[in-house]
Amino acid sequence: MSTICRRAEGIDGEVRILFWCPGCDAPHAPRVDGGGTSWEWNGDMDRPTFTPSILVNKPGPYHARQLPTCHSFVRDGRISFLTDCTHELAGRVVDLPAFDGPAKRRNPGHNQPEYRTKH
Ligand SMILES: [Zn+2]
Repeated sequence: MSTICRRAEGIDGEVRILFWCPGCDAPHAPRVDGGGTSWEWNGDMDRPTFTPSILVNKPGPYHARQLPTCHSFVRDGRISFLTDCTHELAGRVVDLPAFDGPAKRRNPGHNQPEYRTKH
């Protein structure tokens, strides 16, 4: 079993791939099958690539002020944070951590939806 990703399937055929975001210290869960908006995924649970970029907690009516905005590209198991992130990893590229790795989680209740962007 992969240590990087988790797979979650909904009853309606929706499939999400969860990974731990070290910028938000919370999971992100792009939908890769079923439902409406989906990402392209390379099928790799250890070195995932998602296309296009993933935007979480975007500014606007549903923005949660207490949580960071996070905008990233995930490629080959590395996460590249764009500079419009509001957390401390903005502009940096880091390896995705083990899903159960971080001991201290700042935002365990972070469940803001992911948005597909035009990139
Ligand atoms: Zn994030």
